[in-house]
Amino acid sequence: MVESNDGSGQRDFASSAQAWLEESVPKRWRENRGSLSEDEGNEIRREWDRQLYRGGYSGLSLPKEFGGQGFGVAEEVIFAELAGRAQAPDGLARIGRILTAPTLVAHGTEQQLSKYLQKILSGDEIWCQGFSEPDAGSDLAGVKCRATKVDGGYLINGRKIWTSFARHADRCLLLAQTDADAPRYKNLTLFLLDMHQPGVDISPIRQSSGLSHFAEVQFTDVFVADEDVVAGEGDGWKVAMTVLTNERGGVEAASRYVEIRADMDLLRASLGEQPEYKLRLDSLEARVELIRWQVSKSLALEEDPTEYFRATSILKVFWSDLWKEIAELGLETADGTTVDHWRFQYLETRAASIYSGSNEIQRNIISERVLGMPR
Ligand SMILES: Cc1cc2nc3c(=O)[nH]c(=O)nc-3n(C[C@H](O)[C@H](O)[C@H](O)COP(=O)(O)OP(=O)(O)OC[C@H]3O[C@@H](n4cnc5c(N)ncnc54)[C@H](O)[C@@H]3O)c2cc1C
Repeated sequence: MVESNDGSGQRDFASSAQAWLEESVPKRWRENRGSLSEDEGNEIRREWDRQLYRGGYSGLSLPKEFGGQGFGVAEEVIFAELAGRAQAPDGLARIGRILTAPTLVAHGTEQQLSKYLQKILSGDEIWCQGFSEPDAGSDLAGVKCRATKVDGGYLINGRKIWTSFARHADRCLLLAQTDADAPRYKNLTLFLLDMHQPGVDISPIRQSSGLSHFAEVQFTDVFVADEDVVAGEGDGWKVAMTVLTNERGGVEAASRYVEIRADMDLLRASLGEQPEYKLRLDSLEARVELIRWQVSKSLALEEDPTEYFRATSILKVFWSDLWKEIAELGLETADGTTVDHWRFQYLETRAASIYSGSNEIQRNIISERVLGMPR
């Protein structure tokens, strides 16, 4: 169990969370999720969002005054690890909970907080993140989706791609260009966009693993009111950085740790008796446990945003490369009983070093902002 320096409060939290998870994770998901259709799986994931809210496990680290539970990141991390171990579903409302809610607490207006937070935390509204475009992924400052000022708001025109959950989303955290002539980083604005409007055209993209998590989204003259601008016009880059920091932090790494740990255990069960794999398995094993160690270490720095950022920056690169390597060895050595699992994991983990910002970009961030190396 990941723990920060503090002791008993977190242990009490962990034991109630564990008991709740044991009785709440749907049996159908725990035992048969491999045989569920994507739609059946999504239904369970949707209900899981509501269960989290009813159980008091949604918005764990958000302040109570905003409808959260008032805990720290440590409890988020503990819960993510326990939920992974209990094989809990990943809710469909996760983008709202993990990205939109903390972003609104940091930058939103009173009106935005009261309009959106409760629906996000209760799982009643699903959000997607409209950042990437066909010609602007790593180069996020280059987004071309255009927001044109009109009476009372903006009209959005342009295309987004790789938009996870778009098919299910009620709202989108949308990054768009408001001033083509302004300098880079001053030309963007973040909008809270209603996806149920004419002019929002969603085309699902099928992944190599057969799933269809994401989509391409075309916006044609879609209206967003002035009151749904986050921070102010031209502040989009600053707000987007808050979103991305939440996306790449310790909470995500803790839940990934559990998935990677399970794959590592599977690998050991099939190759552990074969001496030619001993060195490779031991080296992978040590790296798996380093994820947990680094997450624990970063929790002690939670109160200092700069040090917390420095400590968590390496996590995304580290776990995604490692998971790919484990899946490669799994596929290379698979037999009749494990081949389906490893084939799926091999294809799914290809994306891990790309989503939430590619590992090359994250290495640039580490070299410049953590190690202080010149550009
Ligand atoms: C499963 C999945 C889900 C996703 N979900 C979402 C989502 O919900 N919302 C959303 O907005 N986006 C989402 N994305 C998109 C993701 O954020 C982008 O794919 C990612 O930022 C990379 O952008 P790109 O695909 O345009 O690649 P590019 O930016 O074209 O990069 C291509 C390659 O060049 C490298 N490269 C580019 N610039 C540099 C540089 N300066 N230095 C070194 N190397 C560089 C990159 O690392 C990469 O290997 C998702 C992606 C995946 C795979």
